[in-house]
Amino acid sequence: MRKPGDLPGPLGKSSRFRRSWRWRRFWQPIAILLAELLPRLFDLILALVLLFLLAPFMAIRAVLARWRTGQVIMVSDRVGRLRSPFKLLSFADNALGRRLPVLFNIFAGNMAFAGPRPLTPEEARALRPEDSIRFCIRPGLFSPHTVRHKTGIAYDDEGELDREFYYGESTRGNAGLVARGTISSLLAGGGLREMPEQFSLLGVRIINTTMSEAIDWIIHRCRGTTSNLAAFVNPDCLNVAYKNSVYHDVLTNAACVWPDGIGINVGCRMLGLSLRENVNGTDMFPRLCERAARENISLYLLGARPDIARLAAENMRFKFPELRIAGYRDGYFSQEDEAQVIHDINQSGADVLLVAFGAPKQEVWLAGRQHELKPRVLIGVGGLFDFYSGRIPRAPVWMREIGLEWTWRLMQEPGRMWRRYVIGNPLFLFRVYRQKLAEHSA
Ligand code: UDP
Repeated sequence: MRKPGDLPGPLGKSSRFRRSWRWRRFWQPIAILLAELLPRLFDLILALVLLFLLAPFMAIRAVLARWRTGQVIMVSDRVGRLRSPFKLLSFADNALGRRLPVLFNIFAGNMAFAGPRPLTPEEARALRPEDSIRFCIRPGLFSPHTVRHKTGIAYDDEGELDREFYYGESTRGNAGLVARGTISSLLAGGGLREMPEQFSLLGVRIINTTMSEAIDWIIHRCRGTTSNLAAFVNPDCLNVAYKNSVYHDVLTNAACVWPDGIGINVGCRMLGLSLRENVNGTDMFPRLCERAARENISLYLLGARPDIARLAAENMRFKFPELRIAGYRDGYFSQEDEAQVIHDINQSGADVLLVAFGAPKQEVWLAGRQHELKPRVLIGVGGLFDFYSGRIPRAPVWMREIGLEWTWRLMQEPGRMWRRYVIGNPLFLFRVYRQKLAEHSA
């Protein structure tokens, strides 16, 4: 792994032998050469093999592009390693496999399979000085940011991800990135799709937004005078709402419904729509805490087993010392205690109330008490306190990057989750398919 100031490849690693005189005089130049040549050789061979294997398909694609647009290849200006300009190749039309000619860029050495996203000249000019480390290596067909972008979880700063990639680059890491990039590209699909501001899935209106816009919305509503109910929906929630009219009505009347998880992404794709980002509670929570700490917004955490909300609150306060947690309590209270619970929440002066009873219980509970609750923003957040208290570990990032977080949850609690995922996921896709047919015939 590189450290700031290290040279690329094996030179970045230090050991007594390598620092010795013999190392510096004899092995160091060879190591530099190998560090440069081996990844390049690997890219060259892989590009050649793929070009050879895909030649028949690429020939058909070339004919198709020519037939559709009168032109085979489209070139666009990009800035490569050491800020050298190059022409990025793609097929001129938008059908499947549009980006395949990039294999020629890799073969020619303008690009690698894994690396930071190739920037346009305008983007390169506007780059912050601290991000220019990305020009020390070849731009890649798959970058950490593009891989996350495809599954809708590219919430973090691209420059930071590129720096992490540069300092942590390894052959194994690159192979993993290429594998995850291939899977996430297949999930995201090619071509340009419509990106509406909102869309309807199984009769529920969902806002097509980004994580940072959703957090802006919460902060903005905290400063208002009315109470706002917001919900996250995943395929399981939509399956429940399909049958449960009370929950369906709550979602219909909510101020905001956000798209949670890869299933919604796939559903959108089936309808020919493009989802801007996967706005789920688990990824939102630490970002909301960070922003709330900066904006002096206070949170109340209600739900989960005894002590879980307290642990989640303490962990967040440890991470963001300025964060104001107005209060917390578990989600297992009796009907008789409810009035006291509501009284405590209102007395706490919280701006945002996060309720973790699981869907649809939390949304239905919130909607029924909305007129009594004083916090300006009320959000149902599912099992997220369990993750942030440390009770249940969250899926590793590589699984989330390829849209497999649900399999992780299935493995953790198969008894409770199998119906939700094994039956629920295909059922959801079937219902979306029926919606598509109905929309086409309308
Ligand atoms: N829960 C609760 N009170 C209840 C029922 C459930 O506080 O009466 C909590 C439970 O402990 C868990 C969360 O609600 O922390 C539900 O988690 P689940 O994984 O079902 O939520 P999801 O994110 O899948 O909607």
